[in-house]
Amino acid sequence: MFKKDKVQGQKACVLGLGKSGRAAAALLAENGFEVLISEEANIAHADSFRLPANVSVETGGHSSRVFDCGFWIKSPGIFPKNPVLLEAKKRKIPVYSELETALAFMPKGVRVFAVTGTNGKTTTTALLGEILKEHAARENKGRRVHICGNIGSPVSLCASQVCAGDDLVIEVSSYQLEDSTYFRPHFACILNVTPDHLDHHGGMKGYIKAKSKIFRNQRENDVLVVNGADTVCAQLVEKAKSEVLAFSTQPKHLLKTDVFFDGDELIFSEGHQIRPPHLKGIHNVENAMAAALMALAAGVPAQTVQCVFDRFEAMEHRIEQFAYHHGVTYVNDSKATNLDSTITALKSFEKNGNLWLILGGRDKGASYEVLIPYLKDYCKHVLTIGESMDKIERELHGAVPLMRCGTLEKAVETAMAGAKRGDIVLLSPACSSFDQFKDFEHRGKVFKRLVTARIFKERMDGDK
Ligand code: ADP
Repeated sequence: MFKKDKVQGQKACVLGLGKSGRAAAALLAENGFEVLISEEANIAHADSFRLPANVSVETGGHSSRVFDCGFWIKSPGIFPKNPVLLEAKKRKIPVYSELETALAFMPKGVRVFAVTGTNGKTTTTALLGEILKEHAARENKGRRVHICGNIGSPVSLCASQVCAGDDLVIEVSSYQLEDSTYFRPHFACILNVTPDHLDHHGGMKGYIKAKSKIFRNQRENDVLVVNGADTVCAQLVEKAKSEVLAFSTQPKHLLKTDVFFDGDELIFSEGHQIRPPHLKGIHNVENAMAAALMALAAGVPAQTVQCVFDRFEAMEHRIEQFAYHHGVTYVNDSKATNLDSTITALKSFEKNGNLWLILGGRDKGASYEVLIPYLKDYCKHVLTIGESMDKIERELHGAVPLMRCGTLEKAVETAMAGAKRGDIVLLSPACSSFDQFKDFEHRGKVFKRLVTARIFKERMDGDK
């Protein structure tokens, strides 16, 4: 367990020069620690990061300096079997997670809300955060709501702004949970658990174990919200000590549910009726159910939840319809970085066989064959891009018309040349973006720029 007093005066090593690593280093430095950030990769622009004076940086590998540090903080993305971590273990150097270190610098009396799941985390975290903010504003007692974690700013970054009595809403990934040992959110949520990050966690068992850490330390008066139709969730809750609340939009579920959807409103067992936000897809009804269950359990009135749902708009890169030209609709779902989220995106459309789906990127280890029935129902063409192209083509060969494109640029060009009135061009790649882009946001923005630039050019040419 990270205890400030126990490590005071020791030199800290932060592994990883990413967003979380830099934020953790700044937090430690602010609290008087001398910090070394050690990064395995070569980073040309490492000098451009503005870091406090007592933070030094090494890149392009870990030197022996890391072993001179009294304790380490691990950035979430680092592979658990990285040789340098194994060496630290051998030398009995304590390694703490970025999440738990950040929490240790916060005062007592903060309510912690944590959302995890394979898909829907950011949407649910944003919904819940907005509801709690609205509630705090209406109560007007000076309580602040901090929204952090995977959703944008690392927990370390908001640690020094958090005061006793505030609410902390964290989007937690399986990577952060994997490194946690005593994390105990008062309100936790697991939205769904389907295969993802299998390469990192060494298979489904490791992935499920990581996800289960969100409630492992919860106590009786804590709350755990789960998807009642999800097989993994249903099994996991058997071990929960906290109060379990379940949601489902499915007619068949494995747990007794506390809310159902009548096609129009969310009906809660407590009697509340709330209209879900105007977001595309049944998956977003589930995200709304989860956020509402957590908020209601935390004492937020149903009217406040309704007010936020009524004004909540679709988030960028998540089934985001951004252009319509010559009868063709363009949709950016760059955030679909695994198979399940691509299936979710497909299911949010009509089964018209009119989609031009752009698929591919960095592979995550699962088989693309699960997509076949959906591709047959929804797609006219599948355009492949990125590192996973060969694997996708091998696994989908003969099932759907495939067009090998390589780059997003080529895929946009091909789709826009072929799409007819009534068709939809959808980027929902089922892969991570790191083979060709900085991150999924970068990929989504490039996609939108490519499409809109061509539309602009066509319009200009048409005017001539
Ligand atoms: P995450 O933060 O977990 O990646 P997001 O809220 O950013 O989730 O949504 C990413 C994509 O995942 C969406 O575009 C959609 O395709 C899919 N998705 C969102 N919510 C759910 C859900 N509850 N169940 C299944 N898929 C979902």
